[in-house]
Amino acid sequence: MSELETRRGHLASQLRDRKLEALIVSSPPNIRYLSGFTGSNGVLLLSADRAVLFTDPRYQIQAAQETDCNVRVAKGPLFPALMNTARRHHFCRIGFEHTRLTCDAFELLRENLYLGASLEPASGLVENQRSVKSAAEISLIRRSVLTNSEAFQRALRKLRPGMRESDLAAELDYQMRLLGAEKPAFETVVASGPRSAWPHARPTASTLARNQLLLIDVGASQDGYASDMTRMAFLGRPAQKVRHLYQAVLEAQLAAISAVRPGARAESVDRAARRVLRACKLDQAFVHSTGHGLGLEIHEPPRLGRRDKTPLAAGMVITIEPGAYLEGFGGVRIEDTVLVTSTGCEVLTPTSKELLVL
Ligand code: ZN
Ligand code: ZN
Repeated sequence: MSELETRRGHLASQLRDRKLEALIVSSPPNIRYLSGFTGSNGVLLLSADRAVLFTDPRYQIQAAQETDCNVRVAKGPLFPALMNTARRHHFCRIGFEHTRLTCDAFELLRENLYLGASLEPASGLVENQRSVKSAAEISLIRRSVLTNSEAFQRALRKLRPGMRESDLAAELDYQMRLLGAEKPAFETVVASGPRSAWPHARPTASTLARNQLLLIDVGASQDGYASDMTRMAFLGRPAQKVRHLYQAVLEAQLAAISAVRPGARAESVDRAARRVLRACKLDQAFVHSTGHGLGLEIHEPPRLGRRDKTPLAAGMVITIEPGAYLEGFGGVRIEDTVLVTSTGCEVLTPTSKELLVL
């Protein structure tokens, strides 16, 4: 059985548990996961013994190559064609991804509902399944991580005072693509000085100056799979305050990594990081959660935050990325991509976690 068939087989048993006869999959990463199709316009109708992909004529040739599902090409909106097929198979309880549909698309689905059929909210089914990666997915993520780390090393060699943040970001993106990534997994963050206290700063034209913190958050998307890493550099001699801040975040990150093992709840990993930062009086400066799952998307379940009770399981790939941000001064974040294993975890990111003093 192929990997795609295995995935659809698992999903079919989830549908049985939920007493759903079919599922309408409309989120592109979920469609890719279950069918292999990577086009921008498609919907998938799945049942225990059928998988039909609906797309438009632009994707006819591509879909035939990428997917092993039946392909229907519709001229016009896809949902009416999909509901026609659902009607022919007399599906009654049909799940749909309610958190991934626009109001417009939902209206279109409802207008095409037939007698005896109902639409049942079923978001999260595919995402939950996706949170535990297969061996093939793990090797793709490993490769994405290596591309990301190698691109980082290469870009560092070009780093000079006077360089613009946006130049360094462009260099990182360029190196990732030379190494086989199709694109950055998210907009590369290069933030210097006080702007390093903005957790999601956009690179600007401001130049890298001496004696400032420099935060670099970069990830590759390679064969669809994301990687994610944050490292800190300092041009010049870091003052005591910078070293303390860095040390506190590093200890929080190591504590969180030690808490990662199968069965541990996502929130307990977050607590481990927060406990260290509280002891350093930096808990108020830690303004986001400790990490997130990643895979076909850069942010996937679980969320390693205060309220996520998901038990971690072997095969999950998550980030561990505590940070502390001081307004007007700067911020520090350290982030690795981590695989949950049967005995604990493996940090996939090979890049050194020392503060890079340049
Ligand atoms: Zn990141
Ligand atoms: Zn991240």
